[in-house]
Amino acid sequence: MSSRTITRRVRGIPTSDGAGVKLTRVIGQPKLDALDPFLLLDEFGSDAATDYIAGFPDHPHRGFETVTYMLDGRMRHRDNHGNSGLLESGSVQWMTAGRGIVHSEMPEQEHGLMRGFQLWVNLAAKDKMTQPRYQDIAPEKIPTVEPAPGVKVRVVAGEVFGVRGPVDGIAIAPVYLDIALEPGAKLSVPLPENHSAFAYVFEGDAVQLGSETLGLRELAVLGKGDSVELALASDAKAARVLLVAGRPLNESVARYGPFVMNTPEQIVQAMQDYQAGRF
Ligand code: MN
Repeated sequence: MSSRTITRRVRGIPTSDGAGVKLTRVIGQPKLDALDPFLLLDEFGSDAATDYIAGFPDHPHRGFETVTYMLDGRMRHRDNHGNSGLLESGSVQWMTAGRGIVHSEMPEQEHGLMRGFQLWVNLAAKDKMTQPRYQDIAPEKIPTVEPAPGVKVRVVAGEVFGVRGPVDGIAIAPVYLDIALEPGAKLSVPLPENHSAFAYVFEGDAVQLGSETLGLRELAVLGKGDSVELALASDAKAARVLLVAGRPLNESVARYGPFVMNTPEQIVQAMQDYQAGRF
């Protein structure tokens, strides 16, 4: 047994995307360009409608997957293949863009809190031109396990403590956990030994990770190992941690905005296909 330790710490940077949605970019920014197979992690959260109301009008994706985890609020997605759906509080959408989609992601509320994450997961070269696929998962389909006193783990993807998350058929064998800790709680979370992994504290003040402290809105890149030790001091505020892991692809990455391929030539092809309406 070897516990993972923190190899790098990163704080997100404020930015805006889409038609002016304010968000914090944690992965996919100068301090952490990517964490193979993860290309981007955005956190959004505001109860000011002006921060999110413009949404993400029609835009393309090719060569990777987007994972939207809604904590609060409602977002409507609609694509050029006729798919649409409503992402509600507590739901997740694992979208495999594959060879290409053009879609919009628009808030379906004019006031109130909108909060969540979007993670981009790379696809292997052999899967980049696969057919688009959606896994829209309602909140009640995401199981919660209580492996220790004061600990609740929502299992979006992967298998921990005998509970399997609903996301299936994803090549990087993802683990995606939303871990809520009460003061004094502690647990050891098993993770596949050679997966890339990160932890991100999104509620509370700070969490103990092994012998170190991880602060609010701080992302820890984790070294290799088959578990992560998390704990919360008995006088701390309740906390929540996003813990995500995936098998690295170890392939070349050519990236331009919403197109992520292996070579610059494939990026040019993606732009031509998009402009010609071949998505
Ligand atoms: Mn999108």
